Amino acid sequence: MKLCRFNDARLGLVEGDLVYDVTDATRILPSLSWPVPAADLLIANLDAVVQEASTLKQGATTYHVRQVRLLSPVANPTKVIAAPVNYLKHQAEAIADGGKNFSDFETIDTYGLFLKAPSSVVGMGEGVEIKFPYKRTDHEIELVVVIGKGGRDISHDAALDLVAGYCMGLDMTIRGPEDRSLRKSLDTFSVVGPWLVTPDEVGDPNSLAMVLTVNGAPRQDANTRDLIFNVQNLISYASRHYTLNPGDILFTGTPEGVGPVEPGDVISISIDKLGLADVGVRAAG
Ligand code: MN
Repeated sequence: MKLCRFNDARLGLVEGDLVYDVTDATRILPSLSWPVPAADLLIANLDAVVQEASTLKQGATTYHVRQVRLLSPVANPTKVIAAPVNYLKHQAEAIADGGKNFSDFETIDTYGLFLKAPSSVVGMGEGVEIKFPYKRTDHEIELVVVIGKGGRDISHDAALDLVAGYCMGLDMTIRGPEDRSLRKSLDTFSVVGPWLVTPDEVGDPNSLAMVLTVNGAPRQDANTRDLIFNVQNLISYASRHYTLNPGDILFTGTPEGVGPVEPGDVISISIDKLGLADVGVRAAG
């Protein structure tokens, strides 16, 4: 199943070019009182939501997918985990740059993972805001994993059991000497969507082709089979350092071909099984 959030936080079931409004499926979610659990409420109850959404599809109002404004499928991630250099060819382009723009040359074995601010998360329909136009701001297409079941110290073999689904992602990045937690956590710098695709529709996450263009010009063209730390390894590694919560988002790293964008650009991305989307770039208002 493909689930999206759209317009003013409505819930949609996506089939082909149609979005079925199944917002009423959220009525099965438990009501909360303070302090709320550390989890995204919808993802924590995803199985029940999916079942309810299937029932509600018949008779639901439909929209063409291009008619709606797509938000992040995860509304309230407790954290956004991300992989630094995780493709050899991206490492090679960073090294070839000679320190002019790139500051990360080693892999996860050296750096470990890093965190992005949950407040940086937006959907594909919300677009990217360039806050500092005099700094180089790059696109990074990445496979995104959404954690469905929480846990810690998860083994490689059990890792995929935790997955609620997959999305496409843009890990927007300012190049420069500042800490990654600053350069990658600006508002709109974690673009996630266009919808959540459940694992049964994806199969092996370590064999997905991805393409990114800017204004139609090719930039990134790669496959998750070339991940240095594959999806299972990333989940296992992350879970040995952080307790994973339902709705946590994991950016798996970007392949070669990263480059700058500026206001007015349109970033188009596609990943096998996950869909395609156009993401607009604008100046900060
Ligand atoms: Mn990245």
